[in-house]
Amino acid sequence: MQDSRVDSVDILQVSNPRFRSDRPDRRHRMLSAMKYASPTTVAEAVDLLDSEPDARVYAGATDLIPQIRAGRPEPAVMVDLKRIERLCAVSSRGSTYTVGAATPTADICAHDGLAAAFPGLVEASGLIGSDQIQSRSSWGGNLANASPAADTPPSLIVNDARAVIAGPGGERTVAAAEVATGPGITSLGGGEFIVEFELDEPPARTADAYLRLIPRTEMDIAVVGAAARVTLDGDGKVSAAAIALAAVAPTVVRVPGAEAALIGNEPAGDALAAVEAAASAATNPIDDKRGTVAYRRQVAGVLARRAVSIAAERARERGGQS
Ligand SMILES: Cc1cc2nc3c(=O)[nH]c(=O)nc-3n(C[C@H](O)[C@H](O)[C@H](O)COP(=O)(O)OP(=O)(O)OC[C@H]3O[C@@H](n4cnc5c(N)ncnc54)[C@H](O)[C@@H]3O)c2cc1C
Repeated sequence: MQDSRVDSVDILQVSNPRFRSDRPDRRHRMLSAMKYASPTTVAEAVDLLDSEPDARVYAGATDLIPQIRAGRPEPAVMVDLKRIERLCAVSSRGSTYTVGAATPTADICAHDGLAAAFPGLVEASGLIGSDQIQSRSSWGGNLANASPAADTPPSLIVNDARAVIAGPGGERTVAAAEVATGPGITSLGGGEFIVEFELDEPPARTADAYLRLIPRTEMDIAVVGAAARVTLDGDGKVSAAAIALAAVAPTVVRVPGAEAALIGNEPAGDALAAVEAAASAATNPIDDKRGTVAYRRQVAGVLARRAVSIAAERARERGGQS
């Protein structure tokens, strides 16, 4: 590809001996020279991706580089999305927030408006990795990486986030829930990438929460993650609810049975017991070193119930009971 915006640089050449190991399970592949492109507009990025089918977008590269080191194919060109202003901007117009898909999660966590409107989604963002990881990681990468255990997708989904996608056919908007279709698989077409997310300000007496369980105190991925959003009516009864679980199936699982059990009821007692049972039953988890199937099922129920309680308490604090 002949383009002034594409440099052939050994940016990712790793010669640090700490990446070498005699242990096969610790052996990281040395990266070869890859071309690097840094478009500054969405249109430039679309053109680049259109002219080089083996190009790959990235934002923080906190998933992509470890995956390439672990043996996934190297793209011909790495397309850095972080130089595109629109992809790193947070704005609000009317009752809608727009969050650039490459915005560092650290910036999202520091955004007072987002933290007030979507406390659970911001909590989920703040759980990703460490300060260093959060200075690079993004919602776009978290969603498009399509890990079943990713922390922000359940919260994006309960808040009905929309993803604005650019590609050779122009721009289109889809529900964030429709982006990941399986582990590592998305519905994005060739040359398409997520530009930004749109989130409508929650209605009155509405709040969200996110909880996850990890085997260690930090820097691990979820055994189970649970996001909930609850709207209360003037009597403190639930008038709308959304619950979504991570790490219990190939993609995020919505729990309509739990949502239905809450409607018309106070978020307590039998209604919460029904949430727990429905959330456990909705799971289809795997057995791995982080947890057995039975353990994940049980934890999913417990976290869903607790997330609903926290979301309801927050909604109440926003004036849920007259
Ligand atoms: C030490 C460590 C700890 C971690 N802890 C957590 C954790 O606790 N929770 C968690 O959920 N994740 C965790 N992660 C994974 C990772 O940090 C997150 O998934 C992060 O949000 C990825 O964002 P990114 O911008 O770095 O993605 P990138 O690595 O840049 O991209 C990831 C994938 O998405 C694609 N992509 C990126 N941006 C876009 C876009 N705008 N449109 C379309 N495709 C795109 C890339 O091509 C790539 O396939 C951790 C990673 C590390 C290394």
